[in-house]
Amino acid sequence: MVCVLAVENERLRNDLAALKNTQISDWQTWEVSRGTHNEVVAVLDEAFLEHHPQEETCFTALPTVFLGLTELSEKSHRLACEQGWYVFYGDPSSDTQNTQNLGAFLKAVAFEGLAVRRLNHYISDSFQDIVASVLLKQQKEEIERLNSELERVSKIDFLTNLLNRRALLEAFETEKRRTDRNLWRLERAGNSFASAPVGDLTSHVGNFSCLIVDIDHFKQVNDTYGHLVGDEVLRKFGELVREKGLFRETDVIGRFGGEEFVILLPETNSAHALYPAERLRQAMQDTVFYSDSGVPFQVTISIGVAQFLPEEGSSDALIKRADQALYQAKQTGRNRVVVFS
Ligand code: GH3
Ligand code: MG
Ligand code: MG
Repeated sequence: MVCVLAVENERLRNDLAALKNTQISDWQTWEVSRGTHNEVVAVLDEAFLEHHPQEETCFTALPTVFLGLTELSEKSHRLACEQGWYVFYGDPSSDTQNTQNLGAFLKAVAFEGLAVRRLNHYISDSFQDIVASVLLKQQKEEIERLNSELERVSKIDFLTNLLNRRALLEAFETEKRRTDRNLWRLERAGNSFASAPVGDLTSHVGNFSCLIVDIDHFKQVNDTYGHLVGDEVLRKFGELVREKGLFRETDVIGRFGGEEFVILLPETNSAHALYPAERLRQAMQDTVFYSDSGVPFQVTISIGVAQFLPEEGSSDALIKRADQALYQAKQTGRNRVVVFS
């Protein structure tokens, strides 16, 4: 135990120096930092306070015992209360019992101070750990949120809110892999996809179809009503195709470029793909658009449909066949759906 002495009374100093297991340090040379891991107590007497009335604040970091000898003045008593000092009444030199009592008292106070310091360090360290982990968690969540927002934005066509070309091509690859795997599982189960009748579940599982949609005479729309009205037609098409319940949740719809759109229908053969394609064609035909001056006009679409062929290595071939069917639709009068054959 270390006693930091702020005691002017010579006799008291000697009594304290004679205490067992105690190291004495002078208040002027004492460094507070040294006390962090030690049992340490500051000891004051009235004579010190009289000669150094401004110095009491130097003890605020230490548990402090005020030695009262026989009696404390009213002023000293009030000060001790204000500062939260412990007061020890009794003259250590008067008998050995008193000296032992003082030693035990100082030790108890020093121990209590040490325990309080350790507890405070523990609490502040733990609190810092908690703050750091909460901050880290918040930062991590924010980064994850921004990343997923970035990922979402990077896949979206800003005009129509549909998937963009890049996301569409990714979806093609995913769908192709899934279909390949389903086919492999079907074949392994001895259930031949090739011989399954249309409408049978197996005829869909190892399959998917692609629609290519192209707006008819769109150049004319731009030329007649202006590019901004043309944009509005594209935006409304995006709404129509997503919101009218024309397609399944799992269908993948995107803008392939300009006024061309691609729709992937998972687990759907081309015979069945004809139905949503026809519904879309009809819905577009029934939609009324307006020019800037409020003149109503209608826009039609042509659609080419093709079915995935397992032997084809890439999705390019599928798009190409759907494109050929689209070309046929344009050639045979537009505003129609043609299935590649
Ligand atoms: P077809 O029936 O044969 O498809 O005729 P079309 O006029 O639709 O075809 P064409 O390829 O000649 O013209 C496509 C037009 O689409 C030309 C282009 O200016 C317009 N276009 C492409 N992207 C946009 C766009 O983002 N906004 C607007 N307003 N027009 C676009
Ligand atoms: Mg076109
Ligand atoms: Mg067109």
